[in-house]
Amino acid sequence: MNWQTFLQNNLTTAEDLRSPLKLTDEEYENIRQEIACYPMSVTKYYFSLINPDDPDDPIRKLAIPTGSTILPDGELDTSGEAGNTMLQGMQHKYAETVLILTTADCAMFCRHCFRRRLVGKSDEEIAVDIDAIAEYIRAHPSINNVLLSGGDSFLLPTEEIADWLRKLAALPQLDFIRFGTRTPVTFPQRILGDYALLELLGSYRQQKQLYVVTHFNHPREITPESQAAVRALRGAGIIVKNQTVLLRGINDDPEVLAELLRKITSIGVVQHYIFQCRPVKGVKSQFQVPIVQGSDIVHKALAKQNGLGKSADYTMSHIKGKIRILGRNQNGEMIFQFRQAKNAENIGRIFSRKLDGTETWLPDDFEI
Ligand code: SF4
Repeated sequence: MNWQTFLQNNLTTAEDLRSPLKLTDEEYENIRQEIACYPMSVTKYYFSLINPDDPDDPIRKLAIPTGSTILPDGELDTSGEAGNTMLQGMQHKYAETVLILTTADCAMFCRHCFRRRLVGKSDEEIAVDIDAIAEYIRAHPSINNVLLSGGDSFLLPTEEIADWLRKLAALPQLDFIRFGTRTPVTFPQRILGDYALLELLGSYRQQKQLYVVTHFNHPREITPESQAAVRALRGAGIIVKNQTVLLRGINDDPEVLAELLRKITSIGVVQHYIFQCRPVKGVKSQFQVPIVQGSDIVHKALAKQNGLGKSADYTMSHIKGKIRILGRNQNGEMIFQFRQAKNAENIGRIFSRKLDGTETWLPDDFEI
């Protein structure tokens, strides 16, 4: 079976879940209502990781609506993506990096997704003109890398991935190209079942360093299949990195997070970020962890790692930039540092805030 056919068997309706998850009528109705606002799509593979007898199963919460994520609080564009869009589907927030939304499709529609405004819903924000984007990059010599995201960039047909690589790898100013994809986690068959994709990626080995940034959130997502997908990517010369989102009810336990970080390192994936969950409409109420609590959880989990595991950065992807959450000082204030900033003068700046323990985000217009 090819990977596209596999995806045609995804679970997409409340009816698909009724019997396997033994839904009550109330659960069924909540799921049905949420799907009408934010569609559901779960691969059979990811669904097989769910414990059907546990309504609180963390894998289930990542994939299956509860009805609560249609609550109105929060925003749909929390990092100012509209304001950073220079061409359709192309964002330029930081001088060195261009972010391209290549597709609105994903193998699974994660319930905590910060781009839920478009995933499975609309192609309006998706890039349409590779040549215009390449021209924009040429005209901006500060750009030295590109992130192909979406949606999930590996949901593009392999021929379209080849088009992107052909055009972008020809730009000498680019040091490397990154792919944002959760397929190693939600749909490893995309990688393991398409030799042409691995051959394509491997063919750039001498020309341009390729990275895959993936997204493991729970230790049970690390399976023989996901491990094999990572191994196949590494075999093609790709460096695989991970970003985790700190999520209530999923990995907000130092033991669970520590196990996740250890397992990520053990399968040869490099730690990148532990992201503070963004205040996304509906997602915020179900998944966010307060910053003070999050910092304690992350530091307890990092304390159980060796040097490689400790390299994950607890970070807030804020409208003003990527802000590290460093921890509390002796006065109980939370210390932050700009790792990256829309206003380049802020890069590296350290600042503190007295937090009362309930805050889950810094206001868009905060002053340093
Ligand atoms: S794979 Fe990424 S972009 Fe797609 S739904 Fe999940 S979190 Fe969102």
